[in-house]
Amino acid sequence: MKTSLKILSIVLLSYGLISCEGYKKETTTMSQEGTKTSIEKPIQSILTAEEQAGMTPDEIIGRLKKGNENFVNNNLTQRDHSAQRRKATIGQYPKAIVLSCVDSRVPVEDVFDLGIGDIFVARVAGNIENRDIVGSMEFASAVAGSKVIIVMGHTACGAIMHAIDNTDAASMNMNALNDLLNEIKPSVELTETNGEVSSKNVAFTNSVINNNAIKTVDDIRKMSPVMASLEEEGKIKIIAAVYDMETGKVKFIE
Ligand SMILES: [Zn+2]
Repeated sequence: MKTSLKILSIVLLSYGLISCEGYKKETTTMSQEGTKTSIEKPIQSILTAEEQAGMTPDEIIGRLKKGNENFVNNNLTQRDHSAQRRKATIGQYPKAIVLSCVDSRVPVEDVFDLGIGDIFVARVAGNIENRDIVGSMEFASAVAGSKVIIVMGHTACGAIMHAIDNTDAASMNMNALNDLLNEIKPSVELTETNGEVSSKNVAFTNSVINNNAIKTVDDIRKMSPVMASLEEEGKIKIIAAVYDMETGKVKFIE
């Protein structure tokens, strides 16, 4: 039994090393500035344990920013999904977990120019935390080694707009939706306004979207002592961000 385990770990290790080598070879087609050459071939490798272990939270945030630049410039990396899918069956070493709204106009992997095995994605309307989502984040960071947790709101978020407008979903028999909107309302209440408290007030709505992402980050820290202490030790970073639907740009709130 022990011998077969040893053989298995040697096989896994060498697989990881080969995969790691392939990753480096393929990324040499990227210039220093992250712009791609025309001879680039589709990426076939996936993130390895070594690559995940070798990155700091700040480096990961830097890569995500660069990936978002590629998305904004309509310059997404070519990926060989069937090769990546086959390699990914062996395990996963994602570098980050993103909590996003469910909005169909926010394609999270594309937004950061990422593919199979790169990130965990949790989604719920209004990108708020709950125990299941924080539990998933604890798994991503404390068990699976991801080092960055991003709470990403987006402009023109319908869930936030309905929370601002106090939409009574319960009166339409949508009690679960009503509960969800109630979870977002504290972010509305903490946002200052000079004008009308209405989703028609775009400046106010954008402030609520910002504040909701920041509040969710704080709530995650409160709900998860494990993640709060990993962050204090500098091993992970939990940050808020907002995706602009018009430009495709992600603004990190640091
Ligand atoms: Zn939304």
